[in-house]
Amino acid sequence: MSEFGSVEIEDPGDADLTFTCPRCSNEVSARYYGPCLDCRQQLHDSQHRDGGDVEVPEYVPKMNVTPNAVALKDD
Ligand SMILES: [Zn+2]
Repeated sequence: MSEFGSVEIEDPGDADLTFTCPRCSNEVSARYYGPCLDCRQQLHDSQHRDGGDVEVPEYVPKMNVTPNAVALKDD
C-alpha cells in the first residue's frame, strides 16, 4: 500500500467512469480519467529507471499481478 505513496489507487467499488486507457487502449473503470493501473505501474517503473540507479529491462510484463488482484488486495 505505502509503496504507492500519495498516488490514489482506484477502488472498483467506487468506480463511476468507464473509458479507454489513453496509453494502452484497454477499457478500464475508475473514479478518474487517466492511465490504467498497468500503465501507472509502468510509468512508475520508468520513473525509477530515470533515477539511474536501477537497471531494468525495457519492458517486463508482471504476469503475476492483475489490476483486479491489486485492487482487491488494496480494499
Ligand atoms: Zn493502460
